[in-house]
Amino acid sequence: MVRAIIGANWGDEGKGKITDMLAGQSDVVVRFQGGANAGHTIITDQGKFALHLLPSGVLNENVVNVIGMGVALDIEAFFWELREVEGRCGHTPRVLISDRAQVLTEYHVALDCYEEERLGKGSFGSTKSGIAPFYSDKYAKIGLQVCQLFDKDLLRKRIQNVADQKNVLLEGLYHQPPLDPDALTEKYYALGQLLKPVTVDVAQYLHRALREGKRILLEGQLGTLRDPDNGIFPFTTSSSPLAGYGTVGAGIPPRAIEEIIAVTKAYSSCVGAGPFVTELFGEEGEELRKRGGDAGEYGAKTGRPRRVGWFDAVATRYGCMLQGATDCALTNLDVLSYLDEIKVCVGYRIDGEITRDFPVTPLVEKAEPVYETLPGWKTDIRGIRSYADLPEKCRAYVEYLEKEIEVPITYLSNGPKREEMIAR
Ligand code: GDP
Repeated sequence: MVRAIIGANWGDEGKGKITDMLAGQSDVVVRFQGGANAGHTIITDQGKFALHLLPSGVLNENVVNVIGMGVALDIEAFFWELREVEGRCGHTPRVLISDRAQVLTEYHVALDCYEEERLGKGSFGSTKSGIAPFYSDKYAKIGLQVCQLFDKDLLRKRIQNVADQKNVLLEGLYHQPPLDPDALTEKYYALGQLLKPVTVDVAQYLHRALREGKRILLEGQLGTLRDPDNGIFPFTTSSSPLAGYGTVGAGIPPRAIEEIIAVTKAYSSCVGAGPFVTELFGEEGEELRKRGGDAGEYGAKTGRPRRVGWFDAVATRYGCMLQGATDCALTNLDVLSYLDEIKVCVGYRIDGEITRDFPVTPLVEKAEPVYETLPGWKTDIRGIRSYADLPEKCRAYVEYLEKEIEVPITYLSNGPKREEMIAR
């Protein structure tokens, strides 16, 4: 059976921790989209791990971790991260990589940086990891598949073709040095050789695993609102973070996905540009940012301060709906314990009309939040392990959110550590 863990919002919902927990009940953990452009924070007895490209199952010795064909594979980042994790986690993580995955190269990163610089203030808040140029090349059919790295002549031809196009851009638009096809061929051929021993046909591998009754966990990166088709375009990412995309980015049959767990925070947070209706500013925002997450709300990848705000039920209900969520995991509930009152956004006022449905970006940009106010519980809830032991006002808050998002909240996280979880 396949279970998916995905984000209901803008990313950084705390998926890493939930994935790490459920990885213990899985045989295989699979990444199916995105690249090293986000970060999952997992805290174990060995300390804090910020994972970017590796599936969160690497911290579990018995799990096979798979990087699917939908992922943007930065090979150097992959080996760097693998060595870092290996050095600290006390075992050798088992990782397999799709021979159809495409390679995120150094020129994708460079082009991403040059373009952000060119756009200046009008930029979309890229993490400058090369993701948008990578996916552009994939769909323009000039990307490099892992299997193509193994044949030097083929690789040289493909890279020459890339250079013919990119060098016009590099020299004409960005005024930067051109690509050197020979040097790039040598580099990526050598990296391909390093990768070869862990490369497999991922679709075959996963279909066989399913036939053998293995438990597969699909791990999404970012969240619904970053989906290029259904999110806050153009403040979106370049691959689909929807559970349904696991059928493409990992070759999983759609009917095999039985459980879809949408992760959301008990408040909202968002890194980068784009409309964010419930955003808090000034002291109120600073206080929440300082108290949020395990060490304040700062991006795991970029260190950028995250924008924070009240729980947005309009965005989250939409986020869960698009994911087809069967369950919801609510994280960071402990963070709200300091508040006298907690607001929840239950509607958007747009041009004088109130809506409960998340609209297109130009309308989200005009939306004002309509709030319900709930009483805070004002007690530290870390250390509580059963739902019944939570303060009544805290349970009322959870149940209010559940009603609003229309998905059962079956997991609650009340602290950053592995064991700080309540199952309902
Ligand atoms: P992901 O990308 O969805 O995995 O999210 P991140 O790991 O980037 O962000 C989640 C942040 O919240 C990290 O700093 C986690 O350590 C932290 N975190 C996760 N769950 C909880 C929780 O229940 N309480 C607190 N205080 N922090 C949490």
